[in-house]
Amino acid sequence: MPLVDRVLYPLMRHSHNLFFNFDSPLAPAYKLASRALDNNIAGRLFMHLAEHPVKRTLLGCQRCGDCAIQHVGFLCPESGCPKHTRNGACGGSRNGMCEVNPDRRCVWFRAHARLASTGNVSEMCHGCVPPRMWELNHTSSWLNFHLGRDHQSNGGEISGCCRQTSCHLLLSDTKAS
Ligand code: SF4
Repeated sequence: MPLVDRVLYPLMRHSHNLFFNFDSPLAPAYKLASRALDNNIAGRLFMHLAEHPVKRTLLGCQRCGDCAIQHVGFLCPESGCPKHTRNGACGGSRNGMCEVNPDRRCVWFRAHARLASTGNVSEMCHGCVPPRMWELNHTSSWLNFHLGRDHQSNGGEISGCCRQTSCHLLLSDTKAS
């Protein structure tokens, strides 16, 4: 795994668990702060300035507003995949390279390597990821998460529809451990 992935993956995983976790004791405070910021244009501008430069630099973020990096090994499915897939590789990659842009590694190949490095490949099979919520385009994904507007709060019905028992990734993860 490239050095950049080795450094960024644990960092982003840790940050995500700290700031974007509904079970965190800080979650009610994040929600209150998000509500206050979302209520006025200055607050939303502040969030844009706080969120976008960091995510643009680290992830190539395109401000889809419905962030799904936690499903893709903390890589962006919008900038990283020409097909914007959120539920796994399209099946067209060869030797880990993208079929649309053969000079780039498949984002799902990278995600698998990242998860395998910490023995968490089975996370790729934890339910289906609901479709992107296009109505959130160009809004703050951080506010949308904490205010329950994104797919993580609104996609429960779809996310429970995964064929987990037949998932070959789960089997290979079990063999590896
Ligand atoms: S908000 Fe959307 S475009 Fe930005 S990093 Fe997350 S998934 Fe990618």
